[in-house]
Amino acid sequence: MSSCLFCRIAAAEIPAKVIYQDADVVAFEDINPQAPLHCLVIPRRHIATLNDVTPDDAALVGTMLYRAAQIARERGYADGGFRTVFNCNADAGQTVFHIHLHLLAGRRLGWPPG
Ligand code: AMP
Ligand code: ZN
Repeated sequence: MSSCLFCRIAAAEIPAKVIYQDADVVAFEDINPQAPLHCLVIPRRHIATLNDVTPDDAALVGTMLYRAAQIARERGYADGGFRTVFNCNADAGQTVFHIHLHLLAGRRLGWPPG
């Protein structure tokens, strides 16, 4: 989708601080970080929301979670802890409609979220 911000980041048409990429996923720093580590893991393929995930996407979503955990480990946050979040639609505050997994770490995170 040429109009989608995260499709364009995945295609390197818009710059981002890329942490990791492979054939399936890209991870990059969030432009408005909410913690010392705040990055987003996205699939290269456009999927608008978690509501649009199908059984065929199960491995891809698992890969996103695995990659987030690997980045947290590489940055030294595996033992201290980290949070992964998918926001879905308006009530959860989703603003970019290409699924993205937030990875946050490096400070004590409150629960429940606001
Ligand atoms: P959400 O509210 O869950 O849809 O999260 C969207 C996230 O994308 C927010 O945390 C934004 O700060 C982040 N974001 C928006 N535009 C960019 C961009 N160009 N590069 C990196 N992160 C972005
Ligand atoms: Zn997209």
